[in-house]
Amino acid sequence: MTVTLPWILRSLAEAGRWLSTPLSPDDYLGLLHPLWPAGELRGRVERLHPETADAVTLVIRPGRGWRPHRPGQWARIGVDVHGRRHWRTYSLSSPPHRPDGCITITVKADPDGIVSRHLARHTVPGTIVRLAGPDGTFVIPEPPPPRLLFLTAGSGITPVMAMLGGLLSDEIPPDVVLIHSAPTPQDVIFGDRLRRLAARSPYMELHERHTRSVGRLGPADLADLCPDWTGRAVWACGPTGMLDDLAAEWPGPAQNLHVERFTETLRPADGATGGRVRFTTTGRETGADGTTPLLNVGEDAGVLMPSGCRMGVCHSCVAPLRSGLVRDLRTGLVHGEPGDLIQTCVSAAVGPVELEL
Ligand SMILES: Cc1cc2nc3c(=O)[nH]c(=O)nc-3n(C[C@H](O)[C@H](O)[C@H](O)COP(=O)(O)OP(=O)(O)OC[C@H]3O[C@@H](n4cnc5c(N)ncnc54)[C@H](O)[C@@H]3O)c2cc1C
Repeated sequence: MTVTLPWILRSLAEAGRWLSTPLSPDDYLGLLHPLWPAGELRGRVERLHPETADAVTLVIRPGRGWRPHRPGQWARIGVDVHGRRHWRTYSLSSPPHRPDGCITITVKADPDGIVSRHLARHTVPGTIVRLAGPDGTFVIPEPPPPRLLFLTAGSGITPVMAMLGGLLSDEIPPDVVLIHSAPTPQDVIFGDRLRRLAARSPYMELHERHTRSVGRLGPADLADLCPDWTGRAVWACGPTGMLDDLAAEWPGPAQNLHVERFTETLRPADGATGGRVRFTTTGRETGADGTTPLLNVGEDAGVLMPSGCRMGVCHSCVAPLRSGLVRDLRTGLVHGEPGDLIQTCVSAAVGPVELEL
């Protein structure tokens, strides 16, 4: 037998597995250092910075296996709240390759939300979170277009914050206009940093729209603030209404408008009736109306459902369909062939459904 390096490594791994049974070598590594296990990507919250009254930036040191993101991408964060693991999606607000090796997310607490409230109000330095990603297509091409418009509101500034530093430090920076809306100057996430960037760079123009005093931004305001807005490449992120209006009014070429949505409007069909849903692996069965996402149906029935963004972006919730039909709540389209992977967070039952979960 020839003893080669791959053979030695395989044998060592095998011996490690045998010695650590019934646990895995990763479980022991996790005891020695929480960021070491290779089987599961983790991060440690190092610091927290309040940004506004309801938004906090978490500085996270990613563990082994994290690959650098492109500015504008998001990651999934898994946190345990009251003994249950929840996954949500957050844009990375830091540029890639920070000198300290950390990444940041900036979370606006939803007073009725499970994860954002937990991250923003109850997380302390040292907390270990689960990570997945990075992913997403809301990124600037290389080289960047010569004229850009960022249109953001509220926490929609987070992916753009990750982009700005890099863009403005290019040898020949593009011409950047940022129009950002928030209720008051104090509610502007990264307000001071944005104002400093705009004051320092002749290539960046910042317009803050404080909606509590002057109302929401309309298409006519856009033309006033940025007369050549239709000739720019646009990156927009903010509330659904703002993005829907922009998409409806956008007169430029479709490929010049890039939109990132943090929430999706689901459009349940009128008179949809639903049916019995059977989860074939767990053997659970329950009734579902035709408007509730199968993800919620399963969770309410006590099935451990995989989940992520809960709005059809990240595909973490997919499950194989064994039989039946489902409706895509975003488009109204009814579909289903046995074996299809169903996005349970945006699909509802149309008649009896069997899912392999
Ligand atoms: C690509 C992407 C990037 C994102 N980036 C950011 C970011 O940078 N910063 C940021 O703050 N957020 C971001 N988000 C949003 C984030 O993922 C979460 O959706 C947000 O933080 C709310 O999560 P939560 O757990 O607090 O709320 P959830 O618990 O999910 O609840 C959200 C809302 O829905 C309501 N709700 C929950 N369940 C039900 C129900 N059964 N019936 C009726 N109402 C219900 C709640 O009352 C609450 O108001 C991003 C989302 C995406 C998809």
